[in-house]
Amino acid sequence: MTIAQATAEADPVELVLAELRRRGGRVTTARRLVLRTLFERSGHCTARELAEDVGKRVRAHGLDVHMSTIYRFLDELEELGVVSHSHLGHGRAVYDLSPVGHSHLVCELCGAVTETPNELFAAFASSVKARYGFSIDPHHFAMAGRCRNCVV
Ligand SMILES: [Zn+2]
Ligand SMILES: [Zn+2]
Ligand SMILES: [Zn+2]
Repeated sequence: MTIAQATAEADPVELVLAELRRRGGRVTTARRLVLRTLFERSGHCTARELAEDVGKRVRAHGLDVHMSTIYRFLDELEELGVVSHSHLGHGRAVYDLSPVGHSHLVCELCGAVTETPNELFAAFASSVKARYGFSIDPHHFAMAGRCRNCVV
């Protein structure tokens, strides 16, 4: 194996694209740029924030990536389990590279977001399940409240 091959195999962007191709998905330059941008960003971003970052790169490549392309691709990446989305408040959903293993606490006053492991909700989840037969998904919507700094 050459060094170039080894590097390409370790590249998460190429791994995702290979999986996408295996499932019959389309692999385009625009999609590669979106994925590259997503992996280089850290933390959550809305589809629009991602599009803005992609836009900066895309212009250098003489390409134009539409919002609809970004949304469609994010949906496909979500089906692949590469990204997940959460609703942190009244605004747009945010996308995150990490899997569905964490939840969010969002302060209604200052907007501070705290990430928590899902296990934090385990005891609550099992009593909800026992009493209502309902399985909670702590990741999909954030838990709203007041942060340490905003509690009066
Ligand atoms: Zn949703
Ligand atoms: Zn706060
Ligand atoms: Zn998160």
